[in-house]
Amino acid sequence: MAPMTTTQSPASPAALPRIAVLATGGTIAGSAADAANTSGYQAGVVGVDRLLAAVPALSQVARIEAEQVASIDSKDLDVALWTTLAARIMALAAREDIDGIVVTHGTDTLEETAYALHLTVKTDKPVVMTAAMRPSSALSADGPLNLLGAITVAGSPAARGQGVLVAFNNRIHSARDIVKTSTYAVDAFQSPEIGALGWVQDGRVEFQRTVVRPHTVATPFVASEAWPLVEIVVSYAGASRAAVDAFVAGGARGIVVAGTGNGSIHASVQTALSEARARGVAVVRASRVGSGHVMRNGAAPDDACGFVSAGTLNPYKARVLLMLALAAGESEPAALQRVFDTY
Ligand code: ASP
Repeated sequence: MAPMTTTQSPASPAALPRIAVLATGGTIAGSAADAANTSGYQAGVVGVDRLLAAVPALSQVARIEAEQVASIDSKDLDVALWTTLAARIMALAAREDIDGIVVTHGTDTLEETAYALHLTVKTDKPVVMTAAMRPSSALSADGPLNLLGAITVAGSPAARGQGVLVAFNNRIHSARDIVKTSTYAVDAFQSPEIGALGWVQDGRVEFQRTVVRPHTVATPFVASEAWPLVEIVVSYAGASRAAVDAFVAGGARGIVVAGTGNGSIHASVQTALSEARARGVAVVRASRVGSGHVMRNGAAPDDACGFVSAGTLNPYKARVLLMLALAAGESEPAALQRVFDTY
């Protein structure tokens, strides 16, 4: 398949795409007292109007309308924000005059929000998230260029129907694949094993592959008011069953285990998870490794224990899908495995 490309050429303002920018906070909207400080700053304190004003080139790329949906550090993100964002995105996408939507976000939980929106927003129009590793006050802040890139992608017809995308450091990733892989580097995101979908630079957008699994309009999932309680436990040398027991006592409807290697689980944790499953708690095996997939029945007896394998989803994305699947009424292992094999 030939790469899908678009190049922005100078156009009259009325011919430019109309893009809605929804801001939620994060380091892209962060500020520190001194420009050399890139770690001790407050996230989510700079308003969206100032972020946009810092990128004069935007006037050549899009007609923009902006909304401040939240002003938070994404480490504190509450899943209720996914419901709010999904509703705002769908309301904007329903407007004929809106061509695409950009969401600015913190990097810490971006991969979770991106996947939650990818599975729940019902639109073919481009929805593009972006973020930054350095606060807006920093020397060589990366937010302005990332914002320009995201707005350029959102205005590109080639981005339609690809689900939620993340434009970051010139690359375009699928929401399903993207993972934060560095605590400090400007090139902080990757799509492990599979790679980016394409790139954006100087007004040019190029996709080298498309998204294969169903998303957005092709899923049955909705971002409703109530997200079922799903927790994550980690397996490691000397792990105990205490976390599983506490989560079950706390009313968890599902538990994702960040297993070792190919989703293998310490015997004491596995016993506790098996008992939890017998009490109706959904159990999904993912891996703490960071790349690769988890094979069904590969490193734990899924059939015998009623566990589900997360495949290529990391534990945080597996939790998102499990919440949505439970909310959609799925709870039996075979049905949940089909969900994980499909989305
Ligand atoms: N803690 C920040 C956040 O996620 C980090 C960032 O945006 O880079 O909001």
